[in-house]
Amino acid sequence: TTHDQAEPSIFTRIIRREIPASVVAEDEHLIAFHDIAPQAPVHVLVVPKTEQYRDVVELAAGDPALLAEMVAFAHKIARDLADGDFRLVFNTGPEAGQTVFHVHAHVLAGGAKEDSLG
Ligand code: 5GP
Repeated sequence: TTHDQAEPSIFTRIIRREIPASVVAEDEHLIAFHDIAPQAPVHVLVVPKTEQYRDVVELAAGDPALLAEMVAFAHKIARDLADGDFRLVFNTGPEAGQTVFHVHAHVLAGGAKEDSLG
């Protein structure tokens, strides 16, 4: 399902270049940038340019092809910035630690075995 938000998400503001971010990759549908509080040697967020999906459950139901694009994008980032292996974390719901309700994947790579995302 979709939802309405009165204000653009923080990630939409990054996509619009209203606030700065360290962008590592971008295409028609997705943007990827370094997390401001990295929890691994490589910690990149992969974010759809649409903010209509609040979490991965909504995205999987509404646009599974876009979810598959996110996985491929994460793999490319892990190959470009690390050895190609990676963890993909989708915090889903506030009790799971989700703070930004614009679906995003955490790409964690670079050899860290421990981080605060579990
Ligand atoms: P969540 O907990 O919602 O899955 O993850 C949100 C992530 O966004 C957090 O890891 C947080 O550090 C990151 N974040 C929040 N605000 C900003 C920002 O303005 N810039 C960047 N690059 N990352 C942000």
